[in-house]
Amino acid sequence: MRHVRTLTAFLIIPQLLLPAHVTRDGNSWTLTSNVTECRFVLTERNTFEMDSIRLPIIGEAWTAGALPSSPVRFAADGVRIDASTPLRLITENVERLDRNNGVRLNLEFDELRGGLRLLVSLELYDDRQVLRSSVRVKNVTGTARVIEMADMLPWALVESGPGPRLMRVNQWSVLPPARNFEVSRTPLENGQPVTLQSGAGQPECTWLATRAENGRGLFAGWEFDGRVRATVRYDSDSRQLNLAAEISDLHHPLNPGDEFQIPPAFLGVYRGDWDEPGFRTQRFVEDVLAKPSPDKTRFPYVVWDSWGYGEDIDERLLRRNAEIAARIGVELFIVDLGWARDIGDWREDPSKFPSGLRNLSDYVHSLGMKFGLHVAPADVAADSEVAALHPDWLATETFEYFGAKPLCLSHKPAQQWIVNQVLGVIDRYGVDWILQDGEHMIKRCTRSGHTHDPLDSNYSNSMDGLNQVLDQVQRARPGVSWENCANGGSMMTFNMVKYYVTSITNDASGALSSRQAAYGATFPFPPRYTDRYMPEQATDAYTTRSYMFGGPWIFMNRLVEAVPEELEWAASEIAAFKTIRGVTRDGKVYHLTGAPADRRTDAIESYSADTDSAVAVVTRENAANSVFPLRLAGLAPGRTYRVHFQDDRRVLHMTGEQLARTGVPVYFDTGRDAEIVYAEPDSMFTSETRTSASRH
Ligand SMILES: [Zn+2]
Repeated sequence: MRHVRTLTAFLIIPQLLLPAHVTRDGNSWTLTSNVTECRFVLTERNTFEMDSIRLPIIGEAWTAGALPSSPVRFAADGVRIDASTPLRLITENVERLDRNNGVRLNLEFDELRGGLRLLVSLELYDDRQVLRSSVRVKNVTGTARVIEMADMLPWALVESGPGPRLMRVNQWSVLPPARNFEVSRTPLENGQPVTLQSGAGQPECTWLATRAENGRGLFAGWEFDGRVRATVRYDSDSRQLNLAAEISDLHHPLNPGDEFQIPPAFLGVYRGDWDEPGFRTQRFVEDVLAKPSPDKTRFPYVVWDSWGYGEDIDERLLRRNAEIAARIGVELFIVDLGWARDIGDWREDPSKFPSGLRNLSDYVHSLGMKFGLHVAPADVAADSEVAALHPDWLATETFEYFGAKPLCLSHKPAQQWIVNQVLGVIDRYGVDWILQDGEHMIKRCTRSGHTHDPLDSNYSNSMDGLNQVLDQVQRARPGVSWENCANGGSMMTFNMVKYYVTSITNDASGALSSRQAAYGATFPFPPRYTDRYMPEQATDAYTTRSYMFGGPWIFMNRLVEAVPEELEWAASEIAAFKTIRGVTRDGKVYHLTGAPADRRTDAIESYSADTDSAVAVVTRENAANSVFPLRLAGLAPGRTYRVHFQDDRRVLHMTGEQLARTGVPVYFDTGRDAEIVYAEPDSMFTSETRTSASRH
């Protein structure tokens, strides 16, 4: 497919064949990649504005409308700096970026209202229909200033097609109202803003997509873990979409010489179905933002986690589970909460590990598995030594995590202690994987005397708190992978993906709930960021396949209690997972049905353009009908595919068109049942397909 596209580009637009680059023409700059073109202008009024973002090959264009569009929108001491503020250009330079032939244009301005200096950075990447932007503010005045508002997504663009809707995806929450990655598509009414609230512990993921009736749309994501209020407002006269994503409760003092980073965000354009903005986002995230997978061929891992026993664990029990886990194909063995003396005292409990936790870790390694440990780095038990010695390190937030109190991550002495604790755990116990947990990671803290402003904890606990902890530990121990968890997937952000190789979605709540979470989370996030905890002790096809699609598959069952047939079943299902994980990690996700629900059959597919093959997991959840016509998406209509199943012995030869239109019947034995369906190009029919394709 890519060869065809490049050839088209060569014939029509030679510019697009060059690596991503920037051209300057008078007071305008054009960033060009092989698929995207984005133009900015320094106007006659000395304002800096976006002129357009285009996909020249398919002829898509979004342009500035009645309201100007600029990457700059923030406020300092009551003065707004935005698309209407006159700027003076100081310097400019262009950087080449390693990932995906990226290019970054840096423009340094003095703003002429409040005397601040701005560094605007704009990025474009080959193959990605996305503009990434960020702004850094420097106080070059002689007096202290306070940043009170910052917008990561200050875009206003025309034109949307008619009848646009806004897609939002929930995070996970156990606190009422319970949330589990529900997807909503809200009509955008003229002048009525629709709001999202994202960040740690908030309702929604840091992502949105719009789509009009003609399939035109925008998508956007922001790279910040703290609380954000984002809005989308549609003006039906001009068909303009106005976006915003403002950091909540911002009060950031900026002393002379200091800099303030507005977190980056990305904006994409597309035309297609509702799976398209998700796919475009996911490929951008994998190429540009995300922590690379720890293992190209074996990731997402098959995992065993000790939480099936709660905190009732010891070395004898864990050794027996490890031995069985290795035998059935588990690749990563995690000891969950309960191994340490206390929360905040991260040394092994000697009564549970008389021969030492390192001994267990060595045994796990000797079985060929990686060794993971649960740590709640930002929490300390109320009666722990550290809480007694440093009561002033606690955040003012009142929640408790298993009775423990939260530390303030942006108070430097507490932060340094946390970093040292985690480094100690990694080194003492030979840790390959940190399962990070806690109530949530961005603490509210209004304590005076901390090394952050008491009114700025949302920003400071994210940018100067959690990010600093992760930066320091990961720089010192780059070989250790981190899993994001905070009592479930409640910090689903595009900052999170930079530090963690996966994230929990929902928290061991059963088969249906797990599929619902993976369904919703795989709109914004690459599938590897949807790991799933399987708490069921007894397993069957319905159960195991409810955990089959997505990131790491985490068994939480008590393996030593399983009978041989159950272990045999687990081993064969693990083998199936290993054959499909490459396609689900890198392919395009098609949500073939609505979200999984009782009395329905749900189907989710991943399609790999590289191999032109598809895999789908189809699950009957007490639906009346025992046959489901599975219509596969993404396949070439004129090509013949070999269709086969995990259980069903049928092997069919069907064209892409037949598979998309009439579909392939999937048969179920019981009310709750599941099947895996594979479609690969049929080598017997390949030459014929080529002939017929060349005739058209
Ligand atoms: Zn604090």
